[in-house]
Amino acid sequence: MSHKLETKAIRTQMERSSFLEHSTPLHLTSSFVFEDAEDMRASFAEEKERNIYSRFTNPNTSEFITKVAQMEAAEDGVAFATGMAAVFGTFAALLDSGDHIVSARSVFGSTHTLFTKYLPKWNISTSYFKVENPAEIEDLIQPNTKILYAETPTNPGVDVLDLAYLGKLAKKHNLLLVIDNCFATPYLQQPIKFGADLVIHSATKLMDGQGRVLGGVTVGKKELIREIYLFARNTGSSLSPFNAWVISKSIETLPVRVDRHCSSALKIAEALEKHPQVEWVKYPFLPSHPQYEIAKKQMSQGGSIISFGIKGGLEAGRNFINAISWLSLSSNLGDSRTIITHPASTTHSKLSEDDRLAVGITDGMIRLSVGLEHFEDIFEDINQALLKTV
Ligand SMILES: *Cc1c(COP(=O)(O)O)cnc(C)c1O
Repeated sequence: MSHKLETKAIRTQMERSSFLEHSTPLHLTSSFVFEDAEDMRASFAEEKERNIYSRFTNPNTSEFITKVAQMEAAEDGVAFATGMAAVFGTFAALLDSGDHIVSARSVFGSTHTLFTKYLPKWNISTSYFKVENPAEIEDLIQPNTKILYAETPTNPGVDVLDLAYLGKLAKKHNLLLVIDNCFATPYLQQPIKFGADLVIHSATKLMDGQGRVLGGVTVGKKELIREIYLFARNTGSSLSPFNAWVISKSIETLPVRVDRHCSSALKIAEALEKHPQVEWVKYPFLPSHPQYEIAKKQMSQGGSIISFGIKGGLEAGRNFINAISWLSLSSNLGDSRTIITHPASTTHSKLSEDDRLAVGITDGMIRLSVGLEHFEDIFEDINQALLKTV
């Protein structure tokens, strides 16, 4: 069917049972039964496609995977218990000892820890390029480089990387291009259309979108997905059927939610840019964003995340947080509730100041995940808190 993404998000559904339920039922079962010895043999030999055990497959996780794969224009996918399990499972399944990754310097904190602390245990090394200077990627590629990795927009800096350029480089050097598309969602950006081989999501964020469950997914080329699936199935990072059911239902409203997140975020970013207490604002669809032209080329809207700098540094950042009245202080993002984080004193406080600045995290930087409340109410709380930082 050639339905549009919004329709696929709603109408991609597993087969109905004999009850003819309208909404997908929840399949809470650890295993599935066999008819007889021959059915058992054929099922384990994978001669037929059927559910055996929920660590392998489950109708609810299959529906979730099919939905995300369709929205990302991918051939197939694997579901994981969390976004980090998807990131780790993807690398662990595809890389061998001695392999090398080229990654953007600015990546999600736990992904950075994976590169610096855990993958080196298996002799897998990583070199980093600056998001402002992707031209240096070619200098970092070695004979043993296997994966080119990036997030766009990045967390928490909201930098944008040119997907068409990364796709071209990956093809030229025969690398796998793996993109964490968590901030954009498939509704705003589909990296596979620009040459990505695999796309990873933390479904915890905008896919659930209501801050309830954790989940992750990797989608992409069938033969790569097969490797990742076998790794996941044998190592046990499977998504729970309940979480898959919640997220799959949430994806039905992803496009309308993301539309509202984006329209409010753009209005708030514009208002922040004019605010006397604000030093700088970074939002992909503000013309002042350093990669505005690239963002316009590959994203249909700017997303839900804004980063901005408050005049007065660390102290002002902390004062601002303390003056917030009802918006949430939390480390999650992509929620219906607006969330504010101060990376320098929380998620990135363990980095040295130099390391923080290298990925664009200044002392006064605030990460704002714009929720679905009325944008005037959101801005009013931010504004009253900003006025108290002086
Ligand atoms: C949150 C996040 C992850 C990790 O996802 P979890 O579901 O928390 O494990 C990975 N990448 C990005 C960009 C994220 O924001």
